[in-house]
Amino acid sequence: MALIVQKYGGTSVGDTERMKNVARRALAAQAKGHRVVVVVSAMSGETNRLLGLVKQITDRPDEREQDQIVATGEQVSIGLVALAIQAQGGKAQSFLGSQCRIVTDSTFSKARIKSIDADSIFRVLDEGRIAVIAGFQGIDEHGNVTTLGRGGSDTTAVAIAAAIKADACEIYTDVDGVYTTDPNVAPRARKLDRISYEEMLELASLGAKVLQIRSVEFAMKYRVPLWVKSSFSDDPGTLVCPEDQAMEDVVVSGIAYDKNDARLWVRGVPDKPGVAAKIFGALDEKAIVVDIIVQNPPHDGVCDLAFTVARADLTKATDVVGKVAKQLKARAVESDDRIAKISIVGVGMRNHSGVAAKMFRVLASEGINVQMISTSEIRVSCVIDPKYTELAVQALHTAFGLDGPAPVAAKKKSKK
Ligand code: ADP
Ligand code: ASP
Ligand code: MG
Repeated sequence: MALIVQKYGGTSVGDTERMKNVARRALAAQAKGHRVVVVVSAMSGETNRLLGLVKQITDRPDEREQDQIVATGEQVSIGLVALAIQAQGGKAQSFLGSQCRIVTDSTFSKARIKSIDADSIFRVLDEGRIAVIAGFQGIDEHGNVTTLGRGGSDTTAVAIAAAIKADACEIYTDVDGVYTTDPNVAPRARKLDRISYEEMLELASLGAKVLQIRSVEFAMKYRVPLWVKSSFSDDPGTLVCPEDQAMEDVVVSGIAYDKNDARLWVRGVPDKPGVAAKIFGALDEKAIVVDIIVQNPPHDGVCDLAFTVARADLTKATDVVGKVAKQLKARAVESDDRIAKISIVGVGMRNHSGVAAKMFRVLASEGINVQMISTSEIRVSCVIDPKYTELAVQALHTAFGLDGPAPVAAKKKSKK
């Protein structure tokens, strides 16, 4: 008898028929003798709809109130899924984040989980019920509702799996595993049977939204066996697991893209110690994550700084940087939200040279200009014009030998 956490994403609970399918799957696992916890997202499109309502009121929402609103999507899903399980003759109880004390810090819209009351979940499981828990949300120590960032239900599921020491955490979504790149962009993407935690962490942080980055961090830290599977098939899916020797033989194992970044320039900042510390310190204070940073060589005692942030943080970042720029007497702050980031990832890059050069050659041969570059031991990222995203992904996928066989029939893409 195993203890299993199953997480179902927005498409998998997109309507009541799909919720009945979730109920059937959870009950099937329970019928095999397992104890089952189900974590669910909001119905597909719902979180965006709620954020849209916020935007109709203001561009600079109070983040506490915004979280109060967007967290409601998951409340509907847990109730309906619990009812669907009961309607099929099973026993289920739903929980909001606050009801199983998913305690987070107070960083609204990207809160981090601090603790979970495993006992409250075990009490329900011990009565033979399926626990149906709202993803994406928690509560801070002052009782405020918090949310964990887009895609945060993945993190809820893995954090619960770690807290209750589950035997497996299964992430059910609309693709049947982790692919070499987004299968909805590259028809010749190949499904991976296994991927290392490290590579998955890079892919997730570089835009592969199949798993939220924090969920992979949790899985890696607590060694949670993490599966990505389809809620619409019985394919075994992909196992995210510790790295092994065979994985090192592959130079590039995946390609990610991200169209949700924006770039900021601070022009004409004095070229002296402490300037970068001031700018990035102020951003850090507001919990804004900065990704690629480029500083131009100084000219007449001043230089330009360019960096990328998540597009959702652009307004906040512009406000913060605007204030610091004034103090520093910088010439101007400019922004651009029309950028895309393309990345290649592979643990094998550690032992191979010329990988970045090959990436630049491939992009050049397609006439794609590289605007910014950043590298780590196991990845290379380039900022490019977003209109070339699909072309770049496909060209790199082919050039690095990742293509699978051409699809026989067009892939059925579920409506999101
Ligand atoms: P859910 O709503 O179930 O959480 P998401 O939309 O968040 O689902 O994540 C699944 C999507 O991730 C897929 O539909 C696919 O387009 C995208 N994706 C991006 N990169 C990859 C990848 N390397 N492998 C699989 N899916 C990927
Ligand atoms: N509903 C949230 C979102 O759309 C959380 C999730 O789906 O994981 O981001
Ligand atoms: Mg998701």
